[in-house]
Amino acid sequence: MRRTVDVAVIGAGVLGTSVAYWLGASNVSKVCVIEAEQGTARHASRRNTGVVHSPFYLDPELRKDMAGAMIASRPMWERLAKKAGVPWTAVGALEVAITDSDRDTLVRHMEWGAKNGIGEGQLELVEPDEIAKTEPNVKCSAAIRISDEPATDFGLLTDALAGEAKKTGTEFVFGFDVAGIHRTGTGHTITGADGSQIDAGLVINCAGGRALEVANMMGQAKDHTALHFRGEYWRADPKHAALVGTSVYSVPRYADYPFLDPHWIVRADGRVEVGPNAVIVSAPDAYEGSGGVVQSVSKFGEILGGSARKLFFDPTFLRMVGSEWKSSVSKSAMISRVRAFVPSIRPEMFTQKGEAGIRTPIVTPEGKMASGTIEVFGDAACSIIGYNSPGATGAPAYSAGLVKRLADAGYVKLGAKDRTDLVWAEADVGKQD
Ligand SMILES: Cc1cc2nc3c(=O)[nH]c(=O)nc-3n(C[C@H](O)[C@H](O)[C@H](O)COP(=O)(O)OP(=O)(O)OC[C@H]3O[C@@H](n4cnc5c(N)ncnc54)[C@H](O)[C@@H]3O)c2cc1C
Repeated sequence: MRRTVDVAVIGAGVLGTSVAYWLGASNVSKVCVIEAEQGTARHASRRNTGVVHSPFYLDPELRKDMAGAMIASRPMWERLAKKAGVPWTAVGALEVAITDSDRDTLVRHMEWGAKNGIGEGQLELVEPDEIAKTEPNVKCSAAIRISDEPATDFGLLTDALAGEAKKTGTEFVFGFDVAGIHRTGTGHTITGADGSQIDAGLVINCAGGRALEVANMMGQAKDHTALHFRGEYWRADPKHAALVGTSVYSVPRYADYPFLDPHWIVRADGRVEVGPNAVIVSAPDAYEGSGGVVQSVSKFGEILGGSARKLFFDPTFLRMVGSEWKSSVSKSAMISRVRAFVPSIRPEMFTQKGEAGIRTPIVTPEGKMASGTIEVFGDAACSIIGYNSPGATGAPAYSAGLVKRLADAGYVKLGAKDRTDLVWAEADVGKQD
């Protein structure tokens, strides 16, 4: 049956679900979330590290908006977790320095944290003897101790948020894989892979790893390229999980690329993993292997003919790609990266692979990896591309801001925000200013 809606949000990950929530909470009528899978958060929004990040490692010159969104979002997620019974564990974290130059990075991160509005006392620069008192198995030359960095399950939070969005009348259409979008007099016709169609006055593209592909269907961002990097994890045998009680990151080796190095992760349910690495693959759902020969060849062709070509001649990028591949084919190589700061770990302590997830950074027409999210506002359509880590943390406030920008630009007309039965209100977002 053909449907007609006012707003179609493509993608029921944490971003699309949050955007739909705010539209519904603002009394925008006939909102529909279109999702290829049979449920919410089946990709990056469930397959991630589950850390509610603190924005100390984001450059305020480049990522002030995301940093503000993260700070405003943290209590919103906590409230939803409490309401829905989703795990929310005060794990805390350390960012450790191994080399002298790492120590300079820690000092810079302390400054960035303050500029990004992290509250006093939440970040502390500590010396090794201080760390040894609480985490004797961590080796470093200095560290930032982050007191407020909880662990949660963003997949379960997204499921719960979809329940809140449905209260406002928002409809979720699952199993609808968008294959084409065509401009009509009043908006767009969205066609699924099985030929079914939805007419929408406005399309908001939140398709995660496929957002650039969906944007291209509407003629947007054709001069950009998406790269897919799989983050793999190894899970510790529970008898070794107590070795370190907090999550531990090292200073990223490749600061120009949007990945943290593999870390020691304490998940919300107490499981311990190391990861994620960043292995280049050819598709946004290549959770095993490299993504298939046909996909690999066509992706390679796309790269050579597109904006990412320059990147593939950059020796630093190639070095990063090579070392990440090594950590994919060899468990020992992956574990040795974390062993640099947790020296007592051995590969045999990690008995199972964790669930991999895929990040999709965007390469700009200049051949550089975009440092943050790209919003493309077009004709009756808006695309959010490159919405990567720490996207899950910042989604509640980021999406509220996006809905406001859409309203300010005349794409949607927001009604009264007078509901008292919903988990988040506009006032929660105002706190980021
Ligand atoms: C390994 C890894 C670790 C991470 N760790 C963290 C962390 O600890 N903390 C944090 O804050 N962030 C983390 N992130 C980042 C965070 O998970 C993402 O920023 C966030 O989940 C992106 O949400 P999304 O809704 O944009 O994408 P997705 O969750 O990928 O959702 C997009 C949805 O669109 C659907 N879709 C795509 N194409 C179509 C189509 N053609 N038709 C219909 N539907 C379509 C997909 O099926 C999918 O459900 C991590 C990410 C990864 C991969």
